[in-house]
Amino acid sequence: MKRILWFRRDLRVKDNPLLSLDGDVLPIFIFDTNILESLNKDDKRLSFIFHYVKKLKQELLSYGLNLKIFYGKPEIIFKYLLQENSFHEVVASPDYDSYTKERDLHISHKLPFRYVEDTYIFKTDEISKDDGTPYLVFTPFYKKARAILESKNIQEYEVSTNSLIETDYDVITKINETLNVSKVAIKIQNIGFEEVILNIVEPHLKLKALKNKIDDYKEQRDYFSIDVSSNLSVDIRFGTIGIREVLRFVFSLKSSDTEPFIRQLIFRDFYAYLLFHFPNIEYENYKYSFNGIKNNEMYELFCSAKTGVPIIDAGVRELLQTGNIHNRVRMIIASFFTKDLLLPWQWGEKFFAKYLLDYDKASNVLSWQWSAGTGVDPQPYFRVFNPYLQSKKYDKDALYIKKYIPELFDIKSKYLHNEEYLFSTNIQDYSKPIVVHKEVAKKAVEIFKDYK
Ligand SMILES: Cc1cc2nc3c(=O)[nH]c(=O)nc-3n(C[C@H](O)[C@H](O)[C@H](O)COP(=O)(O)OP(=O)(O)OC[C@H]3O[C@@H](n4cnc5c(N)ncnc54)[C@H](O)[C@@H]3O)c2cc1C
Repeated sequence: MKRILWFRRDLRVKDNPLLSLDGDVLPIFIFDTNILESLNKDDKRLSFIFHYVKKLKQELLSYGLNLKIFYGKPEIIFKYLLQENSFHEVVASPDYDSYTKERDLHISHKLPFRYVEDTYIFKTDEISKDDGTPYLVFTPFYKKARAILESKNIQEYEVSTNSLIETDYDVITKINETLNVSKVAIKIQNIGFEEVILNIVEPHLKLKALKNKIDDYKEQRDYFSIDVSSNLSVDIRFGTIGIREVLRFVFSLKSSDTEPFIRQLIFRDFYAYLLFHFPNIEYENYKYSFNGIKNNEMYELFCSAKTGVPIIDAGVRELLQTGNIHNRVRMIIASFFTKDLLLPWQWGEKFFAKYLLDYDKASNVLSWQWSAGTGVDPQPYFRVFNPYLQSKKYDKDALYIKKYIPELFDIKSKYLHNEEYLFSTNIQDYSKPIVVHKEVAKKAVEIFKDYK
């Protein structure tokens, strides 16, 4: 059996089901130009992926395997591969966004395509209601998932002894539309991106740190200036650590309260499950036909962190500077964007997609739809976060706000959670709020009521 092992969002050797397959294998990674073309040249994710692709190549060498790295359109690359050699199948881990599904389908017409599950804890058909239909509400999904998890095999996959097909590839192979092949050194600049210096912390160190955080996770995970969550989302996203390994680790902890953390991992599965069963939610509301109001001026102010609402601007700046935002701040921003500014959730989703290091279509789309009140879950449309009360509760001393907005450093913390103060005071280099929260929140609720 000759197989192509296509690494995508599973950039590791340890506990990788792809590598547990025997026979003759060609491991590949593709820098997919269909995706790369829309990205900024200094996109942080490229530097992250590049780091781990090089590491993967290095690690595979110790198993006698050589990762072949391509740059181009996957369908062209497969055409080239099949011209050069004959293969029986291509194996990869599935993903449920429309682009991936269409791409894989296309390639499956050239070569049998087999999925091995790696990205999620559960298969999409593993959890369903008693009548066989998919769950729409998280809590019953979680209860069922948890019961299954008790007896689920989450053992580590061992690397099988594969034999090597190709050896001589210490290059990136670039293939263009006319099947012209050129070879370049493995440098990020050679695929047209700038190297961004990132503070990459290896996922196993993050797991180790989680051991000391987990007892406080439940109580403190919403406080923005406290580092109590795992920071593993980017690793889980790109598979630089396997989800099963994270689970095994958490199960091994002696802590009394690991459940809130496990619940979040299952949340991630739930969102992918929903995207799989209801693919239209990638673009469309699941409920209500209200699609927001397209206001470019408001959108520009939001994107340049000039809303005059400190917690919102701090969150946007955190995103632009680091590629990350604390989960609670993501929720406050998404509520403000869709309810206070009444902008289409799709615009906010796109903005996050452009900058989030851990960007994941399922988690991002479903979270935005949750905030907009248009998603599958029964979150009532009248639930609107008050950004001032949120920051007062979770960032009382405004440490997070002041970290990202130094212009506000000398303002007393309590005033940064006070809308009236922000409206009535001229603060040097910082603008006044662009909306009055109470008024716009009321308007949002009325609009949703009309569409109900
Ligand atoms: C508007 C919005 C957009 C989001 N977009 C993304 C996204 O593109 N990619 C992404 O991975 N997460 C997204 N999230 C979820 C969440 O904010 C991040 O997973 C979390 O901040 C990552 O931090 P952590 O690794 O320290 O999480 P922890 O609290 O340590 O959680 C452990 C893991 O569980 C998963 N997880 C945690 N919370 C959630 C959640 N609410 N939904 C789904 N999975 C979760 C993540 O994989 C995370 O690494 C979004 C949330 C909101 C409100």
